[in-house]
Amino acid sequence: MLDNLRDAVRKFLTGSSSYDKAVEDFIKELQKSLISADVNVKLVFSLTNKIKERLKNEKPPTYIERREWFIKIVYDELSNLFGGDKEPKVIPDKIPYVIMLVGVQGTGKTTTAGKLAYFYKKKGFKVGLVGADVYRPAALEQLQQLGEQIGVPVYGEPGEKDAVGIAKRGVEKFLNEKMEIIIVDTAGRHGYGEEAALLEEMKNIYEAIKPDEVTLVIDASIGQKAYDLASKFNQASKIGTIIITKMDGTAKGGGALSAVAATGATIKFIGTGEKIDELEVFNPRRFVARILG
Ligand code: GDP
Repeated sequence: MLDNLRDAVRKFLTGSSSYDKAVEDFIKELQKSLISADVNVKLVFSLTNKIKERLKNEKPPTYIERREWFIKIVYDELSNLFGGDKEPKVIPDKIPYVIMLVGVQGTGKTTTAGKLAYFYKKKGFKVGLVGADVYRPAALEQLQQLGEQIGVPVYGEPGEKDAVGIAKRGVEKFLNEKMEIIIVDTAGRHGYGEEAALLEEMKNIYEAIKPDEVTLVIDASIGQKAYDLASKFNQASKIGTIIITKMDGTAKGGGALSAVAATGATIKFIGTGEKIDELEVFNPRRFVARILG
């Protein structure tokens, strides 16, 4: 997996085989590692082709060792897949701004809704949370507790099963109250035969509240399912941004790369723990450094 990549970098930098052979071996290892880390195959080949192109067309500057220069190119190109030097734009360009969170159950969607509300409240925005996850009985309660903890109002309708209606009424209420950022937590059922219904519901909520941004919440350990899952969500409601949770765990988040490829979305934040303030603005270079070790 991605651990092999770290070894490959070390081997490349210190190995005794010729430069050309070492480059060839490294590229093969890079492809293998990324594919086994759930990165989409097409994306992997387009990345390695780009690296080969640059090797052909560019010359290492005199102050840097050739092998280090090559690793820098690999690092650059991997970072570019995630947005390069650009940090994602996290401050909305209009007010009011409605964010709809989608994702499968257990990824940390509700926790992330609270973290986001806290993040924006600290930045001085008036924030409202809407609990439209009607399938997980404790979800609304959990959101209400988070809201209380951080002093952010939560709209919910205990016992009501119409998620679309709740989302619509919640957003309307907060708009009337002149809230500046409204975050809508939606359901994330996950089970046989329920996927189609879930996606249909996403679409209906999307149509009803017309959010300014749809954010897909995925777990760092999502693995092979990332590409498919992100594509499906993207079809139901166009995904604009991604938040990767549980980056404090052992998973490296390679699947996130596939989610980015499937949706064209940018990764905005990462979750780094269970606590309300454990949310960081995504940094492409740091993420790639984590992958490359
Ligand atoms: P939901 O079903 O998607 O709404 O998931 P929840 O918000 O209830 O979260 C599921 C579990 O993941 C909870 O135990 C959370 O505390 C935990 N969790 C959420 N985000 C993170 C994170 O960034 N790191 C860690 N370690 N745990 C998290």
